Amino acid sequence: MDFVPSGKELSHFPFLKKAQDPIRSRFSSLGTLLGTPKGEALISHAVTRIQEAVTPKKTHVPKVCGTPEDEIASYALARIIVSCVNDKQLIDRLTRYEAERAYHFLVNEEEWNSNYVQDDGEYSRLWGAVADEMGIRVAEDRMPVPDYVELVAPLHDDRYRLLNRHVEQGFVAINKNERYELLRERIRVLLRHDLPHRVPKEICEKLAPHAAEIKKAYQEQMLRQFGTVEESAFPPCIQALITALAAGTNLTHAGRFSLTAFLHNIGMDTTGIAELYARSPDFDVEKTMYQVEHITGRGGTGTEYTTPACAAMQTTGLCVHRDVLCERVSHPLSYYKVKKSQAPRKPAMVNKKMKSSKDLNSS
Ligand code: SF4
Repeated sequence: MDFVPSGKELSHFPFLKKAQDPIRSRFSSLGTLLGTPKGEALISHAVTRIQEAVTPKKTHVPKVCGTPEDEIASYALARIIVSCVNDKQLIDRLTRYEAERAYHFLVNEEEWNSNYVQDDGEYSRLWGAVADEMGIRVAEDRMPVPDYVELVAPLHDDRYRLLNRHVEQGFVAINKNERYELLRERIRVLLRHDLPHRVPKEICEKLAPHAAEIKKAYQEQMLRQFGTVEESAFPPCIQALITALAAGTNLTHAGRFSLTAFLHNIGMDTTGIAELYARSPDFDVEKTMYQVEHITGRGGTGTEYTTPACAAMQTTGLCVHRDVLCERVSHPLSYYKVKKSQAPRKPAMVNKKMKSSKDLNSS
């Protein structure tokens, strides 16, 4: 017989179809719901969920608050709010959080689920239902190569490289822990795929104060994370772009984009970035401000862009002068974070408006 998860089980995995279907009718009149005390309570719950997602934590012990229906509704509302904010990094954080949360509840299912039923083999009935809906096909302790390759593509862990795996007759051997990790990754990818939702303008307008609150908290958190701009921690690719700019070289579109997005992501303000471009031989103040504002999300679309990852930098010929640390990271921002955390604190650091690219080169 078809397994019907309990309300409690669904509240722990609110992305499941059986969890989402009943609340669709509730959300069909979302505009009306938002103005009510119940709607406000649900929004507050959703905002807490997003704040949890952006808070850096070493350990992750998620809690379920309120009734199963409220929990599921807050999951859906959180996704609507981040869609209104439309910030790629924020959306990434939320989907990663939801996947981590599901992973936590799967790994610890025996602790919270009084309906825990061991299915055939070593997995629970609920694990089977979640994996099934996520399209994970696992037979015993192996997975078909095509499924495996698709799943591990975004992972940077060497453990998962096909070269390091035992492959036999078209199947990759995986152990129980890995199966949980791969299911977590699958959940993350599928939840990310659906975002941002196309939310009606009037709904986003109603949610605007909450979206602004989230944006502010997220911006503060990002700035705390990166701290003051410290050019000695810039990765070689970014150093090279700045050097080229200071030498009067015209950067390619990809070069300008990567440099601008990087400086913005680490907290430099728009004017500071534009000042840097003043050294370019074809400097045009209006054009430069337009480009910078577009990339930093102040332009028409409101979309903030993120520095491309190392793989993309390699594709566009921007990954140069790689050093030892480059071997350990997959993103220029990760390089910056690691290098900065290793560097001894210097009393005189460059403020958010970098002094000038000449200063950089002479330092
Ligand atoms: S590996 Fe990454 S951080 Fe290092 S130079 Fe290349 S793109 Fe930059």
